[in-house]
Amino acid sequence: MPHSKIALFAILEWGISCPTFPDCGRRDLRLHKVEFHLAMDPAQPTTNDQRPTTIGVLALQGDFDAHRRRLEELGAKVLLVKKPEQLDQIDGLVIPGGESGTFLKLLGDQGFEKLKQFVRVKPTFGTCAGAILLALEVENPKQAGLGALNIRIRRNAYGRQIDSSIREGKLLSRSQSGDPHDAALRESPIEMVFIRAPKIEHVGEGVEILATEGNDPVVVQQGRAMAATFHPELSTDTRIHQLFLELVRNGAQR
Ligand code: GLN
Repeated sequence: MPHSKIALFAILEWGISCPTFPDCGRRDLRLHKVEFHLAMDPAQPTTNDQRPTTIGVLALQGDFDAHRRRLEELGAKVLLVKKPEQLDQIDGLVIPGGESGTFLKLLGDQGFEKLKQFVRVKPTFGTCAGAILLALEVENPKQAGLGALNIRIRRNAYGRQIDSSIREGKLLSRSQSGDPHDAALRESPIEMVFIRAPKIEHVGEGVEILATEGNDPVVVQQGRAMAATFHPELSTDTRIHQLFLELVRNGAQR
């Protein structure tokens, strides 16, 4: 039945606690509505097992809901990921801003390991605290990173909350023509909201810079991992999320 679409809704009662994502034990998370779509509409991209392409947003803390809204606005099916096993149901993941140290605590060792496996094989986009989690090396203070991006990143590099700012940066186009006359076409201005933001201090081998602010790289990609040190979900410009959705669609290694 190539054109049919079957939607099945289920209400699941969660257990008292979830050892890996301790936040899951909170009362307000105990009743969780899960939507299963078995979509066979050829217009909708599907994975090998015939599920529609689904983007997860890590929803342990931080501004995950703004990412959900943005991704849905761009036509994606979104799953808020609160338990490690939900990583098996998604084709790409957004790790939102928040507090990277708190993410590490909420993930616990098992959640961290599961996430580490995930970022090796599936497209993942980290913003701000999410960018910190994806890094190989983290400073100020040193903390564990998932190692998906060969970068060294410094937490709170612009100062405190009060030093948060909205700036204009440059989105670099991927045209690789090499023609110096194309230079003007190859970058366009883009608003960037920095909140207690980190700075990428060192970009290692294999990492591509997709956007800059001043002299700093602020959006980078390596293989399936992509990170922004600011909050693209807080601006109306949708281009950064579009880049990520493209990465998920291509399943690309760059
Ligand atoms: N300062 C936070 C951290 O170090 C990140 C802030 C953010 O995500 N907006 O984890």
